[in-house]
Amino acid sequence: MAGRAAMTPENLKARVWLESEFRRIGLQPVEGRFVHAWARARRAGADSVRGANVLGMVRGRTNAARIIVVSAHCDHVGTRNGQIYNGADDNASGTAAVLAMAAHFASHPPAHTILFALWDAEEIGLLGARAFVDAPTVPLASIAANVNLDMVSRNDRGELYAAGATPWPAMRPLLESLVPVASVKLVLGHDSGGGQNDWTDQSDQGAFNAARIPFVYFGVEDHPDYHKPTDDPERIQPGFFYRAARTIAGFVERLDAAVEGWPPR
Ligand SMILES: [Zn+2]
Repeated sequence: MAGRAAMTPENLKARVWLESEFRRIGLQPVEGRFVHAWARARRAGADSVRGANVLGMVRGRTNAARIIVVSAHCDHVGTRNGQIYNGADDNASGTAAVLAMAAHFASHPPAHTILFALWDAEEIGLLGARAFVDAPTVPLASIAANVNLDMVSRNDRGELYAAGATPWPAMRPLLESLVPVASVKLVLGHDSGGGQNDWTDQSDQGAFNAARIPFVYFGVEDHPDYHKPTDDPERIQPGFFYRAARTIAGFVERLDAAVEGWPPR
């Protein structure tokens, strides 16, 4: 898909395929459709970027009115100087893990509704997630939390980071109880202090945090192929990727159980 940059034909081709996967999995459309188009300027006075998020739901068994948003961005940086930036880890990996979780929860329905979201145009300023938060297709007050995935398929030390417990302490016991049973080395951090080591605003969860919606972000440390034309599928680590996706799905199950006791926002 030539690197799936926002506003390219290949980005559209990827989106069409993702929509067909949501339909095949049996997710429910949101407001009657899976594809939610938006237009948004990167900054005041700039030309609008046109994009679209892919949204689908599994309805909650017992409390369908409260929603957990499970998300990943599906765009990447495209093609530069004739070189394709495939973005296998960033963020085909998170996108694929969201598809796998959608299939899992479609056949094992959660207590609360899960909204699965694949954001467009993350790479040029979290635009898809910001467009969703600014013009939400579900009431923002109904969203209990955002679980965002960005780069989950490789780490030479077997480490997966979970950020969010510092700004959102209700997440800490859920994550800490997962650490000893997780099949990856789950490490909490990268969620305070600002600057490069604080990942709060470095992917789509930043849009939710800015709207005071609790988040957990899952991702790995940068690697030598980060934002390089060498971020290719043969460099992902299938065993780690599988265990990371299983760990994140386990977290979503714990979150779904915990949200029951959370006060309404
Ligand atoms: Zn990314």
